Amino acid sequence: THFGFDEVPEHEKQARVNQVFTNVADKYDLMNDIMSFGVHRVWKNYFIQVVRPNPEWNYIDVAGGTGDIAFRYLKELNRFHPSSSSSSVSPPDPSPQITNANSSEKTLVYPMSKCVVADINANMLAVGKQRSLENNLHDRIQWIETNAEKLPFHDGQFDVYTIAFGIRNCTHIDRVVSEAYRVLKKGGRFLCLEFSQVNNTLLQYFYDQYSKTFIPPMGQIIANDWKSYQYLIESIRVFPKQTEFADLIRSCNFRYVNYENLSFGIAAIHSGYKL
Ligand code: SAM
Repeated sequence: THFGFDEVPEHEKQARVNQVFTNVADKYDLMNDIMSFGVHRVWKNYFIQVVRPNPEWNYIDVAGGTGDIAFRYLKELNRFHPSSSSSSVSPPDPSPQITNANSSEKTLVYPMSKCVVADINANMLAVGKQRSLENNLHDRIQWIETNAEKLPFHDGQFDVYTIAFGIRNCTHIDRVVSEAYRVLKKGGRFLCLEFSQVNNTLLQYFYDQYSKTFIPPMGQIIANDWKSYQYLIESIRVFPKQTEFADLIRSCNFRYVNYENLSFGIAAIHSGYKL
């Protein structure tokens, strides 16, 4: 039952990863809820608090999959920058106010910062696009199918770059971070939410047991795919620990590199600035 991703030749890894997400795309959001007991929502919401969305930013979420981070980003913008009432904020794309003809109530269309979701997997993006239609956010997100290791953007375009639970799936994480650096403007910020190393021995024990015994069987039951979820836990196990990953980010020229553990290091947020 071992997926043996460690033994997969480097050039094949990405193809395997793509297969994993193609297989689970439809069930991806449900599985996240079940496997993390909903905690991934808490982490993602907190991540957005750390990002602190701003309508004047040109924003990109890489390995954005089904849009979980981008949707939260846009919803947070709506909460804090309601269009006309905010005098301090002048959105780059002045948004129209749509008046509902049948009522006196105005439906505000909030300031729109540019939002790009980039992901290598068309199936994940397709689920995301569908969700954006259902949430009425379809005109606010540009979905781009691309590899995080080589982004189809000019240098220095984005104010903020996020990547959540995506970088450990990439073959060369140093290339991903270098690309992030390249596409960011001077003063731009890189933020990464990723599974990390648990810093509590007791929790580590239960977490390992839970990962081994619960996750692949649940993957089998819900997504009919044991191996993809076996891969998931292996990819978490082999990802560099907090300090090593911070060093890697520094080695790609980011400054003020920092990290913060979430849930005793089950996940962590790393960040750095391009100065
Ligand atoms: N960020 C989303 C979230 O938090 O729900 C999705 C995370 S999902 C675990 C990982 C995503 O990384 C998948 O959608 C997968 O297609 C994408 N991915 C894997 N390798 C990639 C690569 N080299 N470039 C861009 N995206 C990649």
